[in-house]
Amino acid sequence: MRSVHYAKQREMLKIIGKDISYVVSDEDIRRELGISLFGEKTQEDTELPKIKKACEKCQHPELVYTTRQTRSADEGQTTYYTCPNCGHRFTEG
Ligand SMILES: [Zn+2]
Repeated sequence: MRSVHYAKQREMLKIIGKDISYVVSDEDIRRELGISLFGEKTQEDTELPKIKKACEKCQHPELVYTTRQTRSADEGQTTYYTCPNCGHRFTEG
């Protein structure tokens, strides 16, 4: 009886082994995708203008900003700040 039980255990280990190898390969694909997505995001970030200004939420010292002209030229332009660290957005202008 003991040998039968042992054989079952070995069979289970074979199945577990397959599962693990499948999970690892799947994880490798996800990791590769994650790296490529992160690479694109970083490239996008470098194109955005940055300003030395502290985030009012997390105190991150550098913020990404965009400016937009308001309808009336007399009102000047509004500056939109986005924190690359916590994603907090706020305007000034
Ligand atoms: Zn922040």
